[in-house]
Amino acid sequence: MKRLLILGGTGDAVKLASLVILLQRGFANDLPGLVVITSLAGRTSAPKNLVGDVRIGGFGGEAGLVRYLQTEQIDLLIDATHPFAAQISQNAASAATHVGMPRLMLIRPEWRRSPEDNWIEVESIEEAVQAIPASAERIFVTIGRQQLAPFASLTAKWCLMRSIDPPDLGIPLPPGKLLLDRGPFNLEGERELLREYQIQAIVSKNSGGDATYAKIIAARELGLPVVMIQRPIVPDGEIVTDVAGAIEWLIDRLE
Ligand code: NAP
Repeated sequence: MKRLLILGGTGDAVKLASLVILLQRGFANDLPGLVVITSLAGRTSAPKNLVGDVRIGGFGGEAGLVRYLQTEQIDLLIDATHPFAAQISQNAASAATHVGMPRLMLIRPEWRRSPEDNWIEVESIEEAVQAIPASAERIFVTIGRQQLAPFASLTAKWCLMRSIDPPDLGIPLPPGKLLLDRGPFNLEGERELLREYQIQAIVSKNSGGDATYAKIIAARELGLPVVMIQRPIVPDGEIVTDVAGAIEWLIDRLE
């Protein structure tokens, strides 16, 4: 029995675990005898449709991850974390090198700006706060719940802040409203949301994927500026951009 650790926290990680288990049950049995363990940081409530074994919580840095890989006798590591989760990807890269373990990164392609888009591209959350057009008073902030504090300086604006779970108590926030919701979000709903709250600019991470892309299309349609935060650098290593690519990688490793 080989043991696969998926570093999760994304829809792709959920799909990957499901597909591996489905393939094991199928007639082809392309992935025989593979134990699937998904690891979550525990920042949000775990998705209901996550199958296979699940462990929750940090490992304790690179050294903790090395210990985990060794004590749990993991054979293969797929880093399917969010493109903005830079620390865990770095730890995964160093830990896998340390123990000599095959590691794959599953990273969905980033969104590409179309000619009709009005994007203001920035490198960090702090830059994003500064880059919000002065003329925009009502802002849709869709960057999750962990990095909202820098927006608290926007005392003259009104922010609609959407995240799966509420921010930690005591985090300073700008004037506005918290909207708790988990994607995927559809175009009709996003259009309606932008109109209902009279949004004049959006702040987004360039997360890529379909689940949260509708807001970008809706902004394009309404001619709204999008302050788009660029992705952090990924560690060196093998990369695939979809779940099918990750399955191929696994089949190659198990042959
Ligand atoms: P991060 O800054 O890269 O990681 C911070 C620490 O959280 C890591 O050092 C690790 O703690 C722990 N951690 C992160 N992912 C983990 C995982 N899958 N399993 C176990 N521990 C994990 O990550 P983040 O930006 O806080 O994101 C946390 C999680 O939320 C990630 O799993 C990511 O996929 C998901 N997520 C992030 C974003 C985003 O915008 N950043 C968006 C959607 C989902 P130790 O050092 O103690 O091991």
